[in-house]
Amino acid sequence: MERPVVIIRACPDYDTDRIADLVGEGLDTLGLRPFGRTLVKPNCVASGPHFPHAYTRPEFLEGVLRALKSRAGDDLSELALGERCGITMPTRFAFDQAHYVPMLKRVGAKAYHFDEVPQVPVPLYHPERLRDTMWTPEPVAKADFFVNCPKFKAHPWTTVTFSMKNYIGIQDDRHRLVDHDHRLNEKVADLQYIVQPQFIAIDAIIAGEGRMLTPVPFDLGLVLMGNNQVAFDAVCCRLIGLDPLEVEHIRMAHERGFGPVDLDAIDVVGDVSFAEAQARAQGFRTGLIRVEDYFAGTNIRAYSGPPPPDGGHDYCWGGCPGALEEAVEVLRLYDAATDEKMPPVHIVFGAYDGPIDAEPGEKVVFVGDCARFHGDVAGKPVQIESVYADRSTKDPLEAKYADIYAKMVSMGLALRTLNQEDVVRITGCPVSVAEQVLMLVKLGKLRNPYFDPKQAIPFTSCYLSWRTRQLLNKLMGQPYNVTEAIERGAARPAQNLPPAGASSPFEAG
Ligand code: SF4
Repeated sequence: MERPVVIIRACPDYDTDRIADLVGEGLDTLGLRPFGRTLVKPNCVASGPHFPHAYTRPEFLEGVLRALKSRAGDDLSELALGERCGITMPTRFAFDQAHYVPMLKRVGAKAYHFDEVPQVPVPLYHPERLRDTMWTPEPVAKADFFVNCPKFKAHPWTTVTFSMKNYIGIQDDRHRLVDHDHRLNEKVADLQYIVQPQFIAIDAIIAGEGRMLTPVPFDLGLVLMGNNQVAFDAVCCRLIGLDPLEVEHIRMAHERGFGPVDLDAIDVVGDVSFAEAQARAQGFRTGLIRVEDYFAGTNIRAYSGPPPPDGGHDYCWGGCPGALEEAVEVLRLYDAATDEKMPPVHIVFGAYDGPIDAEPGEKVVFVGDCARFHGDVAGKPVQIESVYADRSTKDPLEAKYADIYAKMVSMGLALRTLNQEDVVRITGCPVSVAEQVLMLVKLGKLRNPYFDPKQAIPFTSCYLSWRTRQLLNKLMGQPYNVTEAIERGAARPAQNLPPAGASSPFEAG
């Protein structure tokens, strides 16, 4: 493997012309020419006025798409942008709120909403895999030239979200939620086998620290580009003073041969020195905070015990607890008085065997399939049993699409007993951010952000289009099986991957 290159460029603002120029120069430096089906994957987990720093900005993507077009040969058959935004929302709504639609028209590129296209199976062969097959949207499997355009952000589940973690959006809802739990980092590492990008360009002009949906803006003024995902993420980690081997999905991908993490093995070039970029990133806060600490000093008391023992974790970093942190931040955006309005509530995760300090009349919610508790709550005995089903019993093809209106109904039903009872159980693995938003709305009698009148019309319009497309896909049937799809060239395991079972050519550093 050639030495990976990471380019660090100064970019003080979202000037599309400047971005197009420096990305074009980045492609030249890396000797890359887009061809065939060229697909760009942004991070558009959430967008619009409430989430200004959560997503790859349209000005940035316009610059990237224009640069790709300018460097492409005659064999560029398609230029497209594809993504699955945060679950429960239609991606077409996220694209609309991100102002991607007029931008794509200007550039002459196509939009793929990954929740509205056929899903393709990709077989996995590496010994550490969580599953034998992962599913990905057809445009990803068919891409000839894949470009990853993440946003430089912290993340409450995986510490950071740079290039590799952006791959959570190359699965639609039913496949994405499978293994989105204490083994999320392994899932992200497994996703690397689906495709590797030929080119990466991260929007680090205004980065996002602390969280992923509602990050605090951090003026970094940088664009980083590269041609190897592990090396790229390693450089991003080191910029903020983080050892990339402490980020599990980066460590795993490195150990499986996807790329180096040592700076000595990476060519770092550009008009900003690594030391200067590090100085700019000084003080950037990452996202790994245990839920008990996150809610200290508020009326929400959180308690967490260990998740199921597979994987050897003492805390579920990839599932329900982090989703509660993101959920409360979403509500704070819509209502600054969220914390004052919230009565004392107690929220319990995992197999918890400590005390729950609830007074009589205070609500106690056990969240997640793996929640288990045997003890007293406000002087009364309470027994909650785990209903967690081993992941080997979960078939992605059996998983259901997440519909926000259905979730509202099911959450309402799950919590209806709170009118008479103080203790309630909510199942799911994971219980998503959206569900926990609805849970907190109910507990605090808060305004439901899904009924925000400013967004009601575009949301309803996108929702109806989304559901219609999904229904049509369902009626047409799922046309793929693993062997057949690969044999006829509609899907392939991956690009640029180490051979199955290969040991890492890179030393852990
Ligand atoms: S139920 Fe929630 S906390 Fe438990 S393993 Fe699943 S995602 Fe983690």
